[in-house]
Order: sequence, then C-alpha cells, then structure tokens
Amino acid sequence: MSEVIVVGAGIIGMLTARELAAVGHTVTVLERARPARESSWAGGGILSPLYPWRYPDVVSELARWSQRAYPGLCEALRTETGIDPECEPSGLLIGEPGDLDDARAWAARFDAGLEVTDAAGARALEPRLGVDFATGAWLPAVGQVRNPRMVRALRASLELGGVEIRSDCPVQGWERSGARIAAVRTPAGRLSADVFVVASGAWSGALLEQTGLRLPIEPVRGQMVLFRGPPGLLRRITLYEGRYAIPRRDGRVLFGSTLEYTGFEKRATPQALEELRRDAARLIPALADLPVECHWAGLRPGSPDGVPAIGPHPEIANLYVCSGHFRNGVVLGPASARLLVDQLSAREPILDPAPCQPARLARSSLA
Ligand SMILES: Cc1cc2nc3c(=O)[nH]c(=O)nc-3n(C[C@H](O)[C@H](O)[C@H](O)COP(=O)(O)OP(=O)(O)OC[C@H]3O[C@@H](n4cnc5c(N)ncnc54)[C@H](O)[C@@H]3O)c2cc1C
Repeated sequence: MSEVIVVGAGIIGMLTARELAAVGHTVTVLERARPARESSWAGGGILSPLYPWRYPDVVSELARWSQRAYPGLCEALRTETGIDPECEPSGLLIGEPGDLDDARAWAARFDAGLEVTDAAGARALEPRLGVDFATGAWLPAVGQVRNPRMVRALRASLELGGVEIRSDCPVQGWERSGARIAAVRTPAGRLSADVFVVASGAWSGALLEQTGLRLPIEPVRGQMVLFRGPPGLLRRITLYEGRYAIPRRDGRVLFGSTLEYTGFEKRATPQALEELRRDAARLIPALADLPVECHWAGLRPGSPDGVPAIGPHPEIANLYVCSGHFRNGVVLGPASARLLVDQLSAREPILDPAPCQPARLARSSLA
C-alpha cells in the first residue's frame, strides 16, 4: 500500500482521505490554514443540485450515487465520533422553474421522483410561503446535511482512524523527478509520498498550473444569511428564482445565496445582506421578523457546467485531481471521492469516469 498526500482539508479532500484509508493507504492531509473552514463550511448542505435537470448527466449520476450513500455515511460518522451531521430528508420544493418538461424528462431518466404541484399543493407542502407558485416541482427524496457538522465529524473520524491532518501547512510547489512528483514544498520543508491528490477547492487551478495542467477552476463567491427561528417554523427546502431557504433541525433557517465572480475576495457585503433579507422576506414572510444571527461568504470552486475534474493528471503518473465541484461539492462529494479512489486503485469504477477526466476538462494542451 502507498503513502498518499491529499492537498486540502475541505469536504472533498477529507472524503477522499477516508476512501483512501479504507483501502489501506497511509494518508496525510495538508491544509493551508484550518481544516474545513472554506467552501465546505460556508455552503448550505442541500443534497441535490438546485435545478438538477439543468446539469450534464454525469453530475446527476454522481449526485444519485452520493444521495444513496449519505444516510449510511452520516450514521457511521455519528457512531464513530458522536457528532451528528443531521442528515434530514427535508424534500426540495422548487417554485415556478419554467422548464418543467425538461424536469419531467430528467426525472424519468434518473428515476428521481419528481411531482408537479399547483399553488394549493405547494402551500400544503410549505405553509409559510409568501409567494403563490402557480407551478412547482416537488422532489420529496432530497435531503440535507448540516455541513459544518458533517466536516467536523469527518475530521474527527479521520483522526481517530489514524489519518494525519496538518493545519497551517500550505503546499507551495512541486518537486518533480522525471514524470513523477517526488515531494511537495511547504513552509515545514519538503514532504514526500508515493501518490498526491489535489483537492484544494477554488485554489486548485493555480496549484495545478504549476504542473502544466490548466483546469478552468475559479473562485465564485456565495453569500448566505442565517436566521434564528423556532423549531418547525419551516418544513421544506424551498427554492424560488435562484434563492433558497433551508430549515435546520433546531429552527435556524439558512437563506442564500449569491453567485459572484469577484476573484479570491471573500468578503460578506452589506448590499448582499440587504438583498438576501429582502428576498427571504418575500419568499417566507415569517423570516422578516427573525434576527439575523450570522452572514458570511465562501468561495466555491467554480467550473464550466459544474462538472468536477476527477482522475489522473495527464502527464504525471502519481498525481491525481478531485476538484471543481462548484455549487455541488457536498452532494457530489462521496461519489467523487469513491470515483477518484476507484481510478487510483485500478478498481471497477462506480460510473464512467470519462466526462470528469482532467485531460478532457483542461483549458488547452499541456504547457
Ligand atoms: C454559499 C454556498 C452555498 C453552497 N451550498 C451548497 C449546497 O447546498 N450543496 C452542495 O452540495 N454544495 C454547496 N456549496 C458548494 C460546496 O460547498 C463546494 O462545492 C464544496 O465545499 C467544495 O469542497 P472542496 O473541498 O473542494 O473545497 P473547500 O471546502 O474550499 O476546501 C479546499 C481546502 O483546500 C485548502 N487549500 C487550498 N490551497 C491549498 C494549498 N496550496 N495547500 C494546502 N491546502 C490548500 C483550503 O484552505 C480549503 O480548506 C455551496 C457553497 C457556497 C459557498
């Protein structure tokens, strides 16, 4: 078995480390700052793409595999660590999507259980609605996790299982030896391994560019507000005109999110707070009366069409990539980690990895 270095302790890096450790590799995760404080902490934890039929099929395939895995994974993490990721089958109600024929066709192909509702049906599902959805798409099987807890549980489970996670250890560069990577350069010195995996979220593009691989992964800022409400205020994850409300088990409600191409500027802005509060009050009027407990921003690892790069570097034999999950890294995470380790171990893959190959997604020919 090999020694593997995973670069990045977000949900993707940690799930990959878990899969690697499960097949017997010795794994070290190197984290630039603190583990799981970037996009994986900032996200919403919805276990579905927002309008799932608008994505390439491979995204639906990864999502479907993960959706089946999530309840068991969360239960295992809860048992191992005592931290409950709060995997809840809240269902997803989408108001007036506009492209219902596409939604129906997608649901039939992926056996996704989509029901079309009218205004009365939507209100029966979510009585707090402030907007009449003339038509709605109801996906009862969609769940959520409380992602800050999910990543905390993952970290604890990895550490209990003997995976070392090194904080404040940014990878600054690569040391090549022919067609292989011999070591990474960090402020703590050079660290060698047999195999390396880049799972560095929005920062993956720059790190891979040093190896001659130009993947179109760029930061896309998302801002979110958290309302403090009583338990049971809201029943369903509700999505309308690109904005969504997520009810947590303890009554808190998350409302998001913005989609901003502002580089690595991770600032939460007063304008976005105002817009999100306005849209929240329109969708769920009861939210207008609740205090905002928190407002934050995260940097998604944006990629064209939301297709992540999962697989080997085209020229460096012992370097792999698992990154570019854009708006869906939580839901796609378990399947992505599994698919990466399938390829690394030359095991039968859970699905066809071709659409996610880094060589195929690269911006242009190698430098
Ligand atoms: C507002 C918002 C809402 C979202 N909602 C959802 C949702 O409901 N459902 C869903 O599925 N997804 C959602 N997402 C998307 C999801 O959060 C991301 O796709 C996912 O977290 C990406 O995980 P990651 O591990 O690739 O990246 P990250 O969580 O960003 O982790 C990457 C890690 O790599 C580290 N790193 C970077 N460079 C280096 C280096 N050189 N050396 C060492 N470490 C390095 C970083 O510090 C970071 O910890 C949302 C995102 C946002 C911002």
